[in-house]
Amino acid sequence: NREWHLLSRPVGWPKPEDFALVEAPVPTPGEGQVLVRNKYLSVDPYMRGRMSAAKSYAAPFELGKVMQGGAVGEVVESRAEGLSAGDHVLHFSGWREYAAVDAKNTVKVDPEAAPLSAYLGVLGMTGLTAYAGLLRTASFKEGDSVFVSGAAGAVGSQVGQIARLKGASRVIGSAGSDEKVRLLLDEYGFDAAFNYKNGPVAEQLREAAPDGVDVYFDNVGGDHLEAAIGSLNQGGRIAVCGMISVYNNTEPAPGPKNLARLIQTRGRIEGFLVGDHYDLQPQFVQEVGPWVASGALKYRETVVEGIENNLEAFLGVLRGDNIGKMVVKL
Ligand code: NDP
Repeated sequence: NREWHLLSRPVGWPKPEDFALVEAPVPTPGEGQVLVRNKYLSVDPYMRGRMSAAKSYAAPFELGKVMQGGAVGEVVESRAEGLSAGDHVLHFSGWREYAAVDAKNTVKVDPEAAPLSAYLGVLGMTGLTAYAGLLRTASFKEGDSVFVSGAAGAVGSQVGQIARLKGASRVIGSAGSDEKVRLLLDEYGFDAAFNYKNGPVAEQLREAAPDGVDVYFDNVGGDHLEAAIGSLNQGGRIAVCGMISVYNNTEPAPGPKNLARLIQTRGRIEGFLVGDHYDLQPQFVQEVGPWVASGALKYRETVVEGIENNLEAFLGVLRGDNIGKMVVKL
């Protein structure tokens, strides 16, 4: 059983020396627990926050101990009622091959209904993030024009497609390569898209959204947020989901210089955490599940193989190596 430990708190970009892949005994499940052999591990941008000691919404990873994260695996031994060997569960003991998990902290998933990795992405945490952030936090309504950054990623690609399927007047996305931009236009049905590395975001956004934006779903922060405020329409809403452009900064990043535009536009900017919106999970699965099954909503995954590549996969998400949800297959 191999597991990833955090050895030191990264300063700036995480370095391989901050981590170690450690050999550990396969744990023995206690009463009420199941032993799970993990099949897919999730790597997510928020994990960067947990590597630092700064106070945040999730407790820091402990030094010298195994890290955590979303995972899906097969129960190989059960000491809990309601779960037996052969069942598949979603749980939170990732970054390792085997985990003993309290059954109450698992969700049983059906490998026949969807590929196991989908429970980490399109039908899981990142999918619900897109759904809740767009519909609840940003109060999306039919006819809105919607701009989303990180648009080829797990959350962003779903935000744009949900907006399209629910009657957005225009869907605009930004991403970090021309290949990703083509995917947004050709496969995900965005009306306009641009590569933020090709020129100033504000200019490219004005061109892509000449009539402005009613909703901005922010995955990136920085220039993107400032540009979106600049293009915000009357009564516009900005849902702050993430700010990946600043996660490795060692100094606080300057804020947008044009916040006063919120007065003129009566604009609203609001952060949210998916953890507060799990009441929407059944509605999310009911509405989005059939779109995924029919192909109306498309998704990609970037699959990295092997526990030894778990760290590289995580770093890859921060670099933008991924299209859609990044997962590690064991
Ligand atoms: P993604 O699949 O979108 O992967 C992250 C992407 O961010 C990369 O692929 C990369 O794509 C992009 N990126 C990296 N650096 C920059 C940069 N400097 N500027 C612009 N884009 C950059 O990850 P997720 O879908 O899992 O997460 C997306 C966002 O949502 C993150 O900010 C994350 O923290 C946040 N989040 C928030 C949650 C909440 O509850 N509030 C829950 C889940 C996620 P590219 O090639 O386009 O640069």
